[in-house]
Amino acid sequence: MTASPQTVEPFDLVIFGGTGDLAARKLLPALFHRFLDHQLPPSSRIVGVAREALDDAGYRAQLREALIAICDARQLDEFLQQVFYRPLDARKDEGWDDFAAFIGAEPDHVRVFYLSTSPELFVDICKRLGHYGLNQGKSRVVLEKPIGRDLDSANRINDAVGQVFDETQTFRIDHYLGKETVQNLLVLRFGNALFEPLWNSAHIDHVQITVAETLGVGHRGAYYDRAGALRDMVQNHMLQLLCMVAMEPPSSLAPDAVRDEKLKVLHSLKPIDAGNAGQLTVRGQYRAGVAEGASVPGYGEELGNAKSDTETFVALKAEIGNWRWAGVPFYLRTGKRLAHRVSEIAVTFKPVPHSIFDAASGSLTQNRLVLRLQPDEGVKLWLTIKHPGPGGLRLRHVPLDMSFAEAFGVSQPDAYERLLLDVVRGNPTLFMRRDEVEAAWRWAGPILAAWSDSGEAPRPYAAGSWGPSASVALIERDGRTWHDDNE
Ligand code: NAP
Repeated sequence: MTASPQTVEPFDLVIFGGTGDLAARKLLPALFHRFLDHQLPPSSRIVGVAREALDDAGYRAQLREALIAICDARQLDEFLQQVFYRPLDARKDEGWDDFAAFIGAEPDHVRVFYLSTSPELFVDICKRLGHYGLNQGKSRVVLEKPIGRDLDSANRINDAVGQVFDETQTFRIDHYLGKETVQNLLVLRFGNALFEPLWNSAHIDHVQITVAETLGVGHRGAYYDRAGALRDMVQNHMLQLLCMVAMEPPSSLAPDAVRDEKLKVLHSLKPIDAGNAGQLTVRGQYRAGVAEGASVPGYGEELGNAKSDTETFVALKAEIGNWRWAGVPFYLRTGKRLAHRVSEIAVTFKPVPHSIFDAASGSLTQNRLVLRLQPDEGVKLWLTIKHPGPGGLRLRHVPLDMSFAEAFGVSQPDAYERLLLDVVRGNPTLFMRRDEVEAAWRWAGPILAAWSDSGEAPRPYAAGSWGPSASVALIERDGRTWHDDNE
């Protein structure tokens, strides 16, 4: 049985950067899917904003082309009637009077300003929204990552946004938190009696978090080269996943109850700096290779700058210094042009203390709970069982496999679908609070500084591989191996 979607109150959702890649690939499709599920009140308006000189009809035609692949044309045209466009330059005054009058025409609507532009524009946009009083009433602002490139720049952005929107109005989006599997992690941990008693250093051997992409940087090279894998993936998405695995049970799902617990985890992360970054981290950069059956160029060639020393791969060993997790390593690994596209969390339990089986039965393998976020969301619990049938007692390691799409016969909503409507509802549970962003930068900053001070170039790896061999050594030194479901 599938739950029927709840409608939300009428809203205006303004997308600054409405002609950009994120809007076309993620935000508008997410809103269209919610429309198809009858969740968008008919009076709600979606307003694209960018500098390009377009009118409503021109914007609708542009979106129609982008969305046509995923929908039936009749309903698409109905949806597009709720979509509008206003040309504006975030840095210039002209056009803002008209824009403010247009938005002000529906004073009772919830107003969401989604800043899907480069973060350099966040401050200008917020100042102007404040100038026109558009921060008043049921107004919210959504900030896309990256929020800064270090603690100082993140603070500058947060301070400036904070002059206009208070913290309860500010939604810092991390779309990983909107994924079904991440919410399922909360339910698995806190809705079952089975796991929580084992969820600690007495029973868990280690945790691995992998976010692997097969794609290269493509057209996002200019942004990526200034960021690199640690800023792009680890400081935000991967630390958020780590927090969801490691946090103490919150007293409720109230936004601050969950975020307070995540913050404690971030504060408990042991520092990685110049003294230990060499042992605990590996950075890499892809070279030419074969990815998904095709020859692909290396990062420098793709970027047009062979001298770049931006990392496209990071592996690291993090530790959480608290009672629950003392001595349990959290291995994090992310990169571009890796062997498979997969995002998953693998929690490996300790071995049984004593085996009663003889060698002929085969070896015992540690239990593992694997939560997969993409490509197909689901959960696998790896258990040891007896190989069925005659032939003596032989041990087999098999997964209890729950692929959500198969188990429930529904396609999973994209994370943005849930998160956009959470903003309309004013529910910030799955969004990052300012202090979380700061704590994450405080931990990531010294790693970046250590790399920069060392002067070492990232280690090369062939596109289509699992990264530099030093990443394998990082985990094998501890007598463990990276989890690979495709093996
Ligand atoms: P993009 O394709 O480069 O789009 C940027 C948008 O901003 C365009 O609509 C552009 O239109 C508009 N813009 C630029 N300067 C402007 C100005 N002065 N005033 C008003 N609008 C302006 O970027 P994107 O990939 O959509 O990414 C947007 C943000 O989301 C970035 O911060 C990115 O890091 C983040 N993000 C993107 C993705 C993704 O998958 N794409 C994923 C996660 C986060 P005009 O040039 O016509 O003004």
